[in-house]
Amino acid sequence: MRLVAQERVAAPGETLHLFFSTLLDSFGPQGWWPARTRLEVILGAILTQNTTWRNATLALKGMKKAGLLHWPALRQVSVADLEFCIRSAGFYRQKARTIRGFVEWLERRHGGSLDSFLGLDTAEGRRQLLDLKGVGPETADAILLYAGRHAVFVSDAYTRRVLSRHRLLAETVDYEFAREFLHRHLPADQAMFNEFHALLVEVSKRYCHRQVARCEECPLRQFLPGVTAASQVPISVAIPRAESVAAGREGA
Ligand code: SF4
Repeated sequence: MRLVAQERVAAPGETLHLFFSTLLDSFGPQGWWPARTRLEVILGAILTQNTTWRNATLALKGMKKAGLLHWPALRQVSVADLEFCIRSAGFYRQKARTIRGFVEWLERRHGGSLDSFLGLDTAEGRRQLLDLKGVGPETADAILLYAGRHAVFVSDAYTRRVLSRHRLLAETVDYEFAREFLHRHLPADQAMFNEFHALLVEVSKRYCHRQVARCEECPLRQFLPGVTAASQVPISVAIPRAESVAAGREGA
């Protein structure tokens, strides 16, 4: 009888840990979220919807210049003034109303206390956020993870793109499916979720672009299906347009 050597297929959790350690070794800690306060994290998570972080930062600077990164001023500003300050973020009318809605809700429901809101258990905090107009799952999870230090994975378009190109997920899976997959295969570790998400965004921006993947330069190339450490070959993946992802921040 002829014995055939079989390559061991890594479990998804093992593969994800390898992605994480490889990216961390390659890029180092990302120091996310780039903000000074929890309020800035929350505003940034709203402002970066459907735009680049650069545009969101410009909008935050506009708010800072107007003194709106402090709760008392933010409570009192008119929607029109808010729109003016954040127009660089795009969709500024909608985002101004989302910020206004969040501020009014926090006052009404939590007496203006971020501690009260962010101290809720994760599921309840997420449920309350998702009830707010203009706050979707990605924004809610970014707020919970980066402002509240809850162990939730922000399974945004960048994350789904990398995981689908490595055949851990289908290209068509939605945000909630990807989130559930990551939660199932990783320990609920807020610090790791924080760093891993930031690293996946970084690898997407540097190499794993929406239209073209520059695999030959990417630290994750050894984990591409069909590529072993011993037989690494340069691969350029031309990604068909149909792969473009519906939701989330798309800056690359
Ligand atoms: S660029 Fe290639 S190797 Fe890098 S994450 Fe994307 S698909 Fe994987």
